Amino acid sequence: MRETGTRTIVIGAGSGGCVAAARLSEQEQHRVTLVEAGPDLAPGEVLPAIDGPDYLAAMAVPGRVDTDVHATRVQGGDPRPYPLGRGLGGSSAINGMVAARGDAARYRSWGWHDAAETWERVAVPVERPAASELGAVDRALLDAEAGAEPALLTRRDGRRVTSAEAYLWPARERSNLEILTDSAVTRIVLDGRRAVGVVLDDGTELAADRVVVAAGAIHTPALLLRSGVDTPGIGTGLQDHPAVAFTLALHEPDDPSRLVTGAVADRGTIQLLPMNHLGSSPDGASHGMLMAALMSPHGRAGTVTVAPDGAPQVDEALLADPRDVAELVRAARETLDLLRTPSFAALVSTVYIDDHGTTADVLADDVALETWVRSATGAYLHATSTCAMGTVVDADGAVAGHQGLFVCDASVFPAIPDANTHLPTVMLAERLCARWAR
Ligand SMILES: Cc1cc2nc3c(=O)[nH]c(=O)nc-3n(C[C@H](O)[C@H](O)[C@H](O)COP(=O)(O)OP(=O)(O)OC[C@H]3O[C@@H](n4cnc5c(N)ncnc54)[C@H](O)[C@@H]3O)c2cc1C
Repeated sequence: MRETGTRTIVIGAGSGGCVAAARLSEQEQHRVTLVEAGPDLAPGEVLPAIDGPDYLAAMAVPGRVDTDVHATRVQGGDPRPYPLGRGLGGSSAINGMVAARGDAARYRSWGWHDAAETWERVAVPVERPAASELGAVDRALLDAEAGAEPALLTRRDGRRVTSAEAYLWPARERSNLEILTDSAVTRIVLDGRRAVGVVLDDGTELAADRVVVAAGAIHTPALLLRSGVDTPGIGTGLQDHPAVAFTLALHEPDDPSRLVTGAVADRGTIQLLPMNHLGSSPDGASHGMLMAALMSPHGRAGTVTVAPDGAPQVDEALLADPRDVAELVRAARETLDLLRTPSFAALVSTVYIDDHGTTADVLADDVALETWVRSATGAYLHATSTCAMGTVVDADGAVAGHQGLFVCDASVFPAIPDANTHLPTVMLAERLCARWAR
């Protein structure tokens, strides 16, 4: 990426795309156009719902969530909504803000020996919440679970900092960076096997020397496939963190102006995530949740394909590997044990296992637990690896068999990190940008 006068189009302004647009436009010889399907997120115009403690309120801001994507969680299941962030900041503007780096040994096992130094460049700030911000389910988890701690959150001074704020705000005034919002790319234009531009949803065609696709692990493979990119493996190997969740009826409603999630517990390969409330409605305030997620799943059978109308079709196949079923059954059993400890018993009147009022008493043995896990497993909304490095893209994120075409988002991970995926995606993007600048 060193030639002069290069015009690069970055598609998608999420965790990865904001980094790519900002770092590429640091080099004056690059002209960068960032194209984002959703709305702007300009300095001074961030709604309290987005930078406040309640990420469910952020998800309710019109235009900020892509509601069109549906995914089957387990094979044979029905497609259910799979929300994704939309607009500058992408999923970092609506996510739960939980900040984690993941296991350094895993990055080294991918040959990412520069991961430690790359983390030094990550511009997204993190901080732990004040004790006064924690909710009742957070506090019960901190009491009952040795491995629990107040969560690091992607915030500064108690405000969410999105990847747009951390990366694009300092870059917005650069004369070599153009930001187009409310503009979706419908297709990448290929000249033979070279990417030479994009077509927007209003029919406008923009020419480019290079296209960097950062539309996220669901939309990136769909866009490549729709554009006729034929590299084998696109859309395969989809991973997510499989999770089960128990809904908790609380004796006392929680204050929905507090953090939804302010604590987290890592128990080996299982992460326990509390939710203090489920939104600001009276029903949301009187219910919490405790979720258990597998952070190092084995299954890789998930796929993103393209429906006849061009939309992504997502089959997560979360339980295709029997080791993941066994581990999730164990995680569910241990979570139920935790919910019987005095800290939770004092807080929770009833533990539910679905939306139909079924209580956890029915999960009396491992057979019942496994049956439930097989039907109730959901995703942590951490999709990765659909254009995996080593399969679809090379070590620079370049799409195999093509010229001028790169991927820079969660699609690229060789396998899912054992951590919440926002910060690792920022690190991955920083790493690719450093390689492009060499
Ligand atoms: C509800 C929710 C909660 C989460 N909670 C956490 C958490 O607490 N901690 C954590 O670490 N991770 C969390 N995650 C996951 C994390 O946010 C994502 O893994 C990460 O942001 C992915 O980054 P990305 O760059 O791959 O994609 P995204 O950040 O999703 O960005 C993709 C961008 O591309 C745009 N786009 C898509 N298609 C097009 C197109 N055709 N043309 C133009 N633009 C397009 C989208 O609008 C979007 O802005 C959560 C995710 C969700 C959805």
